[in-house]
Amino acid sequence: MISNLESYCEKWNLKVNMSKSEILIFRKGGRLGRNEKWKFNGNEIKNVNEYKYLGVTFTPKLSFSKHIEKRTSQSKMAINSTWIDFLGKKDVNMKMKWKVYEAVCRSVQTYAAQVWGYSYFDEVDKLQRYFLKKILKVPSFTPNYALMLETNVENCHLYTLKLNLKYIHQVLYRYQEHRLPTILTNILLEKEGFWVANIKSMAHRLNVQWPNTANEDEWTLFSKCIIGKEKTYLLQENLRLKQQSQDRIYKHLDYRMGEMYFTDSFTSDQISWIFKARCGLINLNATRFNTENAERKCTLCNLIRDETLQHFIGECPILAEFRTSFFQSAILSEEDVINILDGREAHYWRQLVIYLKICLNYREFLIFEYNSV
Ligand SMILES: [Zn+2]
Repeated sequence: MISNLESYCEKWNLKVNMSKSEILIFRKGGRLGRNEKWKFNGNEIKNVNEYKYLGVTFTPKLSFSKHIEKRTSQSKMAINSTWIDFLGKKDVNMKMKWKVYEAVCRSVQTYAAQVWGYSYFDEVDKLQRYFLKKILKVPSFTPNYALMLETNVENCHLYTLKLNLKYIHQVLYRYQEHRLPTILTNILLEKEGFWVANIKSMAHRLNVQWPNTANEDEWTLFSKCIIGKEKTYLLQENLRLKQQSQDRIYKHLDYRMGEMYFTDSFTSDQISWIFKARCGLINLNATRFNTENAERKCTLCNLIRDETLQHFIGECPILAEFRTSFFQSAILSEEDVINILDGREAHYWRQLVIYLKICLNYREFLIFEYNSV
């Protein structure tokens, strides 16, 4: 094939730029043999371990990890470079911030997902979580299940899977038969190799029957079932972790309320506070910010109670006056606090944000006063 190219170039008086010509051998593993060398017009062509073609980084084992790795760091750079002027700003609403993620970060990271989207890459979901944690201004140890349940955004793995299944649909039923992608797809379907094996095992795991690929309707239905079942699986998994969580209050909250406040009706700052309160991320003595040996008791009152969110919002007598003015009661039961965190009354969430801000400031002031005596 190389010598054919040599004579073709000679015939038409074309020159090949040797500094840009490289050889990449696709193989299952092991080293290259000594004789595996190629020459063009007597010059040896450089052997390489990765090659970027049409924006995709290829490696010998045809794994897309390297490609994803490179794309992920580019997307992370995009997040950080838009942070100061846009994403980090309080007055930009969450929906706009999310749009930037979809348009800039996700599109960069999921480039060519039409061909790799069936595979699960943790980096893909990790970047999505990194972005969400950053715009919500919550610590990195925020539980992933809470993040996904509360924001109710489309999981990035599902997004890439959709792109992939849609592309296969195009190749199978919209391309002309003589086109290379269609020929290769048909060979893979026959041999059950590469992505076919992967999607088949996914179908098996989700208990979806493999379709007759000659029938377009069957493929469409199959794709819908796979996406739907994978979505349900991910949701169930997050709910299972929610039930197992250490956080006493979050366990009892209604996860469906997330989509009620992660909207344009609240400012970015309010959303961030509501999220932190619901997920137990308010920095109190008995919340997960503290290590095991630290003081857990409330330092404001003399009740010798753990300073939990329940104690802070509902019970601490030092904050009774604020409680009465915001929630019309000097003491709140666990059920009352759950109703507030779930935003059962329209004004609850807004009141909660102000209550938390004022009471945390007051708490800091009292601790400072106490320590300086
Ligand atoms: Zn107290």
